[in-house]
Amino acid sequence: MPGLMNISRNRKEFEKLQNIFAMVKTRVCTYQKNNKEVIPIPKDLIFKCPKCHNVEFMDEFLLHGKVCSACNYHTRISARERLDITVDTGTFEEWDENLESLNPINFPKYDEKIEQLQERTGLREAIITGKCKIEGNPCAIGVMDSNFMMASMGSVVGEKITRLFERATVTRLPVVLFTASGGARMQEGIISLMQMAKTSGAVGRHSSSQLMYMTVLTDPTTGGVAASFAALGDIILAEPKSLIGFAGRRVIENTIKQKLPDNFQSSEFFLEHGFIDMLVQRSEMRKTIGRLLRLHSHGKG
Ligand SMILES: [Zn+2]
Repeated sequence: MPGLMNISRNRKEFEKLQNIFAMVKTRVCTYQKNNKEVIPIPKDLIFKCPKCHNVEFMDEFLLHGKVCSACNYHTRISARERLDITVDTGTFEEWDENLESLNPINFPKYDEKIEQLQERTGLREAIITGKCKIEGNPCAIGVMDSNFMMASMGSVVGEKITRLFERATVTRLPVVLFTASGGARMQEGIISLMQMAKTSGAVGRHSSSQLMYMTVLTDPTTGGVAASFAALGDIILAEPKSLIGFAGRRVIENTIKQKLPDNFQSSEFFLEHGFIDMLVQRSEMRKTIGRLLRLHSHGKG
């Protein structure tokens, strides 16, 4: 009976609310004692969407793959999380995991920053590359991680992407690349900008070998990454509500002296204008990539 189901659901919600109130009450008591006014909501219990400010239970947010249930914003996830939900279990073999950035232009405190990030994220650099199977289809894969210096592209990110395409060309594998980046890494100066041409050259040679390249643009894909390999996919997918663009909104508005539309630089805007082929929900991403790989592997040995 629908009525009974509602009661049962409401009871569950009620119990959750009771738990929250109990926790908040404890905090209130603690803070009143210390004469402080701020009452923090426990971080592990609640998710607050940075786009629409909707608040929901953390367990439901996690259950939906870290997607906001109110506005469908696909939040940023780590490269390891991405691999976990994308590749077939036990099939991922990492490439070039030990490549590390040096400090080619002696940028102040760059070495320390890299070291701290390595410790905090467990990553060596802002991208993980390797080969795997997705829904049974072999491919080379790269996943950028915005937790590492906003996945900016320095010499190592550029080199790992170049090697990814070179290996894929030799072994005749399609490439799937999840992009997320603030652009070129200013701490490596002109060497970062050179990576745009280097990666694009490797993509070009892979393409000339009649091999397929698929990009998945995730939030945010901007700057030198958006202007090089991210835009060169034969098929370009994107997650909903992702920020995609080259320069920032303010820079463009000041340059062209015009107001830009509200949805400018969103994945929805780019789909509407033909730059993106398809927006894919995170829950459907693995199946969609698997289907596209299968479709385009026809006839290739
Ligand atoms: Zn939201």
